[in-house]
Amino acid sequence: MGAGPNGLVAALTLARAGLVVDVYEAADQPGGGCRTAELTVPGFRHDVCSAVHPLLVASPAFADIDLLAHGVRILTPSVAFAHPLDGGRAVCVGHNVDDVADSLGEDGPAYARTFSPLARDVDKILPAFLGSMRSLPAHPLAAAGFGLRGLSSAQRFARRFSTEEGQALVAGTAAHSMLPLTAPLSGVFPRLFTSLAHRYGWPVVEGGSAAIVGALVAEITALGGHIETGRLVKRLDDLPSARAVVLDVTPRQLLEMAADTVPRRYGRALGRYHYGPGVCKVDWALSGPVPWSAEGCRQAVTVHVGGTFSEIARGEADVNAGRHPDHPYCLVTQPCVVDPTRAPAGGHTLWAYCHVPNGSDVDMTERIEAQIERFAPGFRDLILGRATCTAVDEEERNPSYVGGDINAGAATLRQMVFRPTVQWNPYRTALRGVYLCSAATPPGGGVHGMCGLGAARAALHDLGQHGAGSPAS
Ligand SMILES: Cc1cc2nc3c(=O)[nH]c(=O)nc-3n(C[C@H](O)[C@H](O)[C@H](O)COP(=O)(O)OP(=O)(O)OC[C@H]3O[C@@H](n4cnc5c(N)ncnc54)[C@H](O)[C@@H]3O)c2cc1C
Repeated sequence: MGAGPNGLVAALTLARAGLVVDVYEAADQPGGGCRTAELTVPGFRHDVCSAVHPLLVASPAFADIDLLAHGVRILTPSVAFAHPLDGGRAVCVGHNVDDVADSLGEDGPAYARTFSPLARDVDKILPAFLGSMRSLPAHPLAAAGFGLRGLSSAQRFARRFSTEEGQALVAGTAAHSMLPLTAPLSGVFPRLFTSLAHRYGWPVVEGGSAAIVGALVAEITALGGHIETGRLVKRLDDLPSARAVVLDVTPRQLLEMAADTVPRRYGRALGRYHYGPGVCKVDWALSGPVPWSAEGCRQAVTVHVGGTFSEIARGEADVNAGRHPDHPYCLVTQPCVVDPTRAPAGGHTLWAYCHVPNGSDVDMTERIEAQIERFAPGFRDLILGRATCTAVDEEERNPSYVGGDINAGAATLRQMVFRPTVQWNPYRTALRGVYLCSAATPPGGGVHGMCGLGAARAALHDLGQHGAGSPAS
C-alpha cells in the first residue's frame, strides 16, 4: 500500500520473487515524493517533491533496474551544489576534491584532508548507511570510523574550517537534516552529502523525477503486478487478504489504520515516534535563469541559500524551537541548468523550500524570495508564475508527510538507529504478515528505495523464500 519509491521498490522485489502483487495508492498518480507536474504555468514541468538524486545513483536497490532502458536519463551538473555568500562570493562543490580545496584558500588543506579519504571510501561506507542499521557492515572499520566521527555536531565539524566559505559549506549540507546544527549526528550529513557529490555528483532526471517512477511501474506491470490509484486505504481490514501486506506509511498512520489490532506495547512504541520540522515549498516558472551574483551558482542544480554558518544555525535553531525564521535557510534546485526540457525555450523552473515548525500553515514565500533576491538581485523580475505548498498542504497531498515532515520522522540519533521502533528487524511490525517500508524505516528519507527493499526481503524471508529479493536475484 502506497506507491512512493519505497512502496514501488518493495512491490517490484516481491513481483520479481514470483509473488502476485497489487499496489493501492491514495493519489491519482503513483510516485508519492517522486512526481513531476505543471504546477505553475502550462509548459513548465516541476518536480513536486524530490528533484536531486545522489542517493538513487548510489543505491543498491536501483543497481539492477535498467533505468536507461526505460528512457530515464540521469543528468549530472558540473557543480553538485553551491553556497552563495554576500559580496558575490560562493563556494562550489564539483567532482574534484582538489578543485574545491584550491578554491578555499587557507581552508584548502583541511578540506582535502577531510574529503579526499571520504570520497575515496564512500562506496565502502554507503552500504552500512543505506542498510537496515542492524547488520554488520562489509567494511566495519571504514563504516565505524565514519559513523563515530559523524556522531558529533555540525558546529563541531565546522571548527576545522576557519573561512566563512568553509564553514558555510558545512552548514548548507548539515541543514538538510533539519536538526539544530548543534545536535549530535548533524555532522554526519556534511560528510555524507559532500562525499556523494565528489563520487556521484548530485544529478537530476531529464524531464523530471517522475521518470524514475515510470520505470518502476513499467517493471512491476511487466511482471503482472497491478497498481490501483485513487484508493485511500483507511483501515488495514479494507485491504484484501494477502500473504504479505507492505505499507508505505509512517507509525502514526499505521496506528490510525490498525489501532484496535496492534498490541498495546507496540502501539505505545509507535506512538512515541517523533516527527521533525515541516517544509514550506515554492515552485516558480521563470523567464530566464536565476541571475546569481556568484558565477559558480549558475552551474549548480542545487544551491544552499542562507548565508554564513551562524545565520543558518540561528534559523534552524528557531525552527526546532517552534519559530518561523525571518531569514530562513533555503534549499534551492534549478534543474534547467542541465535539463532544458523542463520549460519552454529560454524559460527555467525553480523550486525552493525552507524548514518550518511541524504542522505550520505559514506561507514563507515572501521570506524565501527575499533570501534568493539577496544573492541574485533581479530574481523577482523573472517570475512568470509561482505555486506555494505550506507544511499542512504537504500533509494534505501526502499523508506520509505528517505535519509537513518530508523525511517521515526526525533524524535524531535514536531514530537514525532505531527507526521506527527498537526491534531487531525494523521492517516487521507486531502484526503477522504486515511490514513497514516507508522512509520511517532505515535508512530514512530520500529516493533510494532501500526501505522498500528491506521490507520486501523481510516479507520474503517470512514466506520461506530465503535469498529471494537480493539486488542480484
Ligand atoms: C519537497 C520535497 C523535496 C524532496 N527532495 C528530495 C530530493 O531532492 N532527493 C531525494 O532523494 N529525496 C527528496 N525528498 C524526499 C523523498 O521524496 C522521500 O523521502 C521519498 O519519496 C520517500 O519515499 P516513500 O516511498 O517512503 O514515501 P512517499 O514518497 O511519501 O510515498 C508514500 C505514498 O503512499 C501513499 N499513501 C500514504 N497513505 C496512504 C493510504 N492510507 N492509502 C493509500 N496510499 C497511501 C501516498 O499517497 C504516497 O504516494 C523530497 C521530499 C519533498 C516533499
